[in-house]
Amino acid sequence: MITTFFANNLRYNKTNSLPQNRTNPITTLYPVNELFETIQGEGVYTGTPAIFLRLQGCPVGCPWCDTQHTWVKSADAEVDAQTMLSKTEPSSAWAELNAQQLLQLFTEQGFQAKHVVITGGEPAMYDLRELGEVLEQAGYQLQIETSGTFALQLTAATWVTVSPKLDMPGGYLVRPDCMQRANEIKHPIAMQKHIDALDNLLQRCPPRSEAIISLQPISQRPRATQLAIETCIARNWRLSVQLHKYLNIE
Ligand code: SF4
Repeated sequence: MITTFFANNLRYNKTNSLPQNRTNPITTLYPVNELFETIQGEGVYTGTPAIFLRLQGCPVGCPWCDTQHTWVKSADAEVDAQTMLSKTEPSSAWAELNAQQLLQLFTEQGFQAKHVVITGGEPAMYDLRELGEVLEQAGYQLQIETSGTFALQLTAATWVTVSPKLDMPGGYLVRPDCMQRANEIKHPIAMQKHIDALDNLLQRCPPRSEAIISLQPISQRPRATQLAIETCIARNWRLSVQLHKYLNIE
């Protein structure tokens, strides 16, 4: 796997230490399913080297979800950090880590990227303010990818990508405050009814005028891709094509 290759071969001498000016104790623990370095393949930051931090747990229940192994946070599946890092295939195993431990792992893994994507699962289930404060003080920029169904607990500088999940089996509603906070709204589509649903949402929960809206064809299907291209051109929206799936990287 390309990311494993990078993790094993890109060692460097810089160390990430806890910022000296931090006085508050670090108390928040995060259930980490995966931690790896790759290229961001979606949305505005497509092409950006990024550290992906995948958190365990999601009750939203999207039928097409390609990370269903993150849905349940089972006590039986807790492992130590090294076991979590050495996974070779998706699994529900997770390790509990705080912000300082994550910063240390960034160094130990030899990560070079300064962009951190917090994904899941549904990472907005957790209070991410302490993580954001610690990582930002160490020079990282954060991005969260969220369904928009949980109240956001983030630093002001965190880039928010809302991929709104509408009418999903879990019964969670997309929140107006999430849509207002979004820097980017990235909507997966396969058919016209998905674009109609987005139109309804944008009317009901208007985003900021500067929010970037993009359409993402589901599973690289040709008809979905054609519909997304035509709609993006007509609306002056952006196309998000999941570059990592075309490149066959994680
Ligand atoms: S919100 Fe994301 S992680 Fe949760 S079920 Fe939907 S696609 Fe999967």
